Amino acid sequence: MIRVRMAPSPTGYFHIGSVRTTLYNWLFAKKNKGVFVLRIEDTDKERNRKEFEEDILKNLDILDLKPDEMYRQSERTDFYTNHLKKLIEEDKAYYCFCTKEELEKERKVMEEKGMAPKYGGKCASIDKKEAEKRVESGEAYVIRLRVPEGKIAFKDMIRGEVEFDAGLMGDVIIARNLEEPLYNFSVVIDDILMKISHVIRGEEHLPNTPKQLVIYNALNANPPLFAHLPLLLNKDRSKMSKRYGDVAVKDYLERGYLPEALINFVALLGWHPQGNQEIFSREELINEFDIERVQKAGAVFDIEKLNWINRQYIVNLPEQALTEKIKEHIPEEWKINPAMVRAIKPRLDKIGDAKELLVVYFELPEYEKELLFWKGEDRNTKSILEKLAAGINDIEDGKFDLENVTEKITALVPDDKKGDYLWPLRVSLSGSKTSPTPFELLAGLGKEESLRRIRIAIGKLNE
Ligand code: GLU
Repeated sequence: MIRVRMAPSPTGYFHIGSVRTTLYNWLFAKKNKGVFVLRIEDTDKERNRKEFEEDILKNLDILDLKPDEMYRQSERTDFYTNHLKKLIEEDKAYYCFCTKEELEKERKVMEEKGMAPKYGGKCASIDKKEAEKRVESGEAYVIRLRVPEGKIAFKDMIRGEVEFDAGLMGDVIIARNLEEPLYNFSVVIDDILMKISHVIRGEEHLPNTPKQLVIYNALNANPPLFAHLPLLLNKDRSKMSKRYGDVAVKDYLERGYLPEALINFVALLGWHPQGNQEIFSREELINEFDIERVQKAGAVFDIEKLNWINRQYIVNLPEQALTEKIKEHIPEEWKINPAMVRAIKPRLDKIGDAKELLVVYFELPEYEKELLFWKGEDRNTKSILEKLAAGINDIEDGKFDLENVTEKITALVPDDKKGDYLWPLRVSLSGSKTSPTPFELLAGLGKEESLRRIRIAIGKLNE
């Protein structure tokens, strides 16, 4: 039975890297008819915030990556405590009373001798009864695991054979006290109890894996298979970090990246399908996804590619759905019509761009009359605009659509005078030199507003 898990710590907003880990786990589970578990690792009381847990759950919902089972580590303390006690009973773990200062001193001495620092084992030989007495009397302690010397090897599904020298590790701390297990310990206990078959997680956890493997050994448990996903890199190949607000999923969603497009993009961050296909439905992702095809090398986060993928999804949205989404990103008083939506649709990298692209339809900026002159020269601009206004006025009210407007206006424009006609028309309708085409402007603005704007232009030319 395939059982995988995503184990986020609610210490920050859900970020793109977490989406990828979640997605790969989710796809692996779906592909293998397995179970996808969400485990909120909320044991760090100082850094956890409920708000972050809510953000995780909300975004998993939006991204349609819902878990089959969900747990919170904060509700599972008894499991950890019981297992800690058991390890101490079996003498596989022991209480350590060394102070920070002592440990610091020990570390310095080792470093001076050119040795890799590790715990010297001072408390390893304290008699158990004696140690228990000290704990009961309130002395501060941590719990350490006895780590036997030797090699620890495992086969990572992405990285292949990985080997560590346990001798370098020393007796690792697995808990601050009986009630406060450290990350490596609670993860192992939960992965065992939740019968996790495959641990798919970020490469930053690779150094934790040997520590976890020694814990599996001490507990006589079979470890799961591991797959460590490549780091996410910025375009300059520097490490992408969750410290930058920019990687929070909510920021991307707020800017109008579509959830399906984000998923499609994230799927390709380190995984390459067999062919050249780049746009995948969810079903296709489930079928095609193959953890063995995930690369070892860091995966570059390319915003241009995200924009491109998002455009493909936007273009394929039904007009009504797109209109509704656009409305979420523009002022309420802007009443948009289908002609406007059609005009901006191919230019939207993300829905949030709509405001900037639509403003031309709702606000006519101030402009100098010279802007109306094609190539800076006034060649009958005013009479051209008057002629065009008359032509526009002649178009039947109910037929002011892009096709008809284009046909009627084009008929008025001599072939060799396109610039002389269409340039001032576009400027008078938009007040700027960069805008949709004059026909798109006409269709979007409608007859009345178009004529009003042209009259303003003519007014400027009369001054
Ligand atoms: N809770 C850990 C984190 O947020 C992940 C644990 C794991 O996947 O093993 O990074």
